[in-house]
Amino acid sequence: MNTPTHITEQILNSVEAYIYTKDLAGKYTYANQEVLALFGKTLAEVVGHGDEEFFDLSLSVKLQENDRKVISQGIKVVSEESNYIKSLNEIRIYRVVKKPIFDDEGVITGMCGISTDITSERQTQRRAEEQKHLLDTILNNINAHVYMKDSERTFLYVNSQVAELFGDSAKNIIGKKDTDVLPKEIADHFYQSDRVVFETQQRHIIEEEAEGDDGNTHHYISTKIPFQSPGKLPALIGFSTEVTELFKLKEEFKKLATVDALTDLYNRRYFTEQADKEYLRAQRYKLSLTLISIDIDHFKKINDKFGHPAGDKVLIEVAKQLKSSLRQTDVLARIGGEEFSILLPETSADEAEVFAERLRLAQSQLRITGDWHGEIQLSVSIGISSYQQSDSNFDQIFSRADKALYQAKNSGRNRVCRQ
Ligand code: GH3
Ligand code: MG
Ligand code: MG
Repeated sequence: MNTPTHITEQILNSVEAYIYTKDLAGKYTYANQEVLALFGKTLAEVVGHGDEEFFDLSLSVKLQENDRKVISQGIKVVSEESNYIKSLNEIRIYRVVKKPIFDDEGVITGMCGISTDITSERQTQRRAEEQKHLLDTILNNINAHVYMKDSERTFLYVNSQVAELFGDSAKNIIGKKDTDVLPKEIADHFYQSDRVVFETQQRHIIEEEAEGDDGNTHHYISTKIPFQSPGKLPALIGFSTEVTELFKLKEEFKKLATVDALTDLYNRRYFTEQADKEYLRAQRYKLSLTLISIDIDHFKKINDKFGHPAGDKVLIEVAKQLKSSLRQTDVLARIGGEEFSILLPETSADEAEVFAERLRLAQSQLRITGDWHGEIQLSVSIGISSYQQSDSNFDQIFSRADKALYQAKNSGRNRVCRQ
């Protein structure tokens, strides 16, 4: 039979929602198949019965509250209910729409309701919120700057460390372009490596530096990885860890490895490295290259007479004097105790001899004072040797300069000899 009532009945039962009517006393006057299936009852077992039979009402507070509102105030209620279903032995969450039913005279005779189960929706949402909370907690507490930027340079995410660095709140930064948040120069600098990620679509690791509010340079190791969400612009996620302290340590170690602590001149190791390089260059391009070896005369006597600390001061002053007369390309080093070497690229022995003579004179004019009695005077002996085509390595130049130095010592000191 296809009477209008029959059709309505079919519709009500095919809708994936719980549809019901209740009288003023809260007893069911109708319930669709979904409701009956949920309660595990027949229509006869539901009609005329109240909610206390199907719900644990102490755990379903909103249900009664909403019903009362509809009946007593005659208004429509749209709400969310969390109801304990006895047949299921569990709480389900519903989006409910409840309306009063009026008779022909406009008097309220009951109510009707449509409820949709949104438990899994809410659970998914809650799980997403929990995950977001977890992620936020991690991202805001790890010792790194974490951010997400799209290919049009808009920040999609920044953690609290980035916000702090930029001196603004994360909320204010997100949605803005890097050029709106950072000085253009710095934003462009960062964007250079961003572009590599967008172009190659590959992870990119770089060392970056930026000047902080304190005016100091901060160093970062940054990892940038491409990130694509469906239907969105290409983006990247960046992780930057500040390594300023490590960077300084690295520089310090580098310096320690190449520089002599007392005189601040390069050490023998660095000198040898540079000398080998210059030797190869001179050989390849047929350039002249000259080495000057300098040794303080009777330095032992200075130590003996004035004490070791005074000897140290002499070494410092001699080094300073030598340093002040160098050209940009010359390499000066403290080779040993009171011995120094100067490498003069693209310099002939004749030119070097003039230069050495000047050094010798300047050293002999030094007058070093300190917390000892009197002035310290000194002289130096100097040996010179230049690259010769028959040489096969730098050591050969080095030993010839040493011989020349020995010669200078033997012929009375305070002089320049050449080999
Ligand atoms: P010569 O004219 O033959 O070069 O005589 P010299 O006394 O200068 O040479 P010698 O090699 O006999 O002595 C070098 C002295 O330099 C011995 C050593 O104690 C001293 N010396 C080496 N390194 C240092 C240092 O770092 N500080 C001080 N104060 N003395 C040093
Ligand atoms: Mg010596
Ligand atoms: Mg000496």
